[in-house]
Amino acid sequence: MEDCIFCKISKGEIPSEKVYEDEEVLAFKDIHPAAPIHILVIPKKHIAKVTDIMPEDEALVGKMYTVINKIAKEQGFAEDGFRMIINCGRDAGQEVMHLHFHILAGTKMGPKII
Ligand code: 5GP
Ligand code: ZN
Repeated sequence: MEDCIFCKISKGEIPSEKVYEDEEVLAFKDIHPAAPIHILVIPKKHIAKVTDIMPEDEALVGKMYTVINKIAKEQGFAEDGFRMIINCGRDAGQEVMHLHFHILAGTKMGPKII
């Protein structure tokens, strides 16, 4: 989608520090990390937010979890643990309208981090 910053990142039009990439999913480091490790995992397909996920996206969204599992093991934080956050809409403070999972790791977190 035009004018979507994460679509531009997924097409390589805006640079990012990639952690994982395949034909459907991209993971890259958050530009303003909220924890020592802060990775964003996105579908390459433009889905604006959780409430725009359609039944035909179920396999893609499911795959994002196995990608996260792989990243956690490869990056070495699977054992210590991590937090996943998805903001949806205005009240949650979603700033980028392209579905993304925040992966936060590398520190012991309290009940709230963002
Ligand atoms: P949201 O508030 O929408 O859940 O989170 C958006 C996240 O995207 C924020 O944590 C922000 O730091 C990150 N972000 C925004 N623009 C860019 C960018 O151009 N590059 C990268 N790597 N992260 C970005
Ligand atoms: Zn997009």
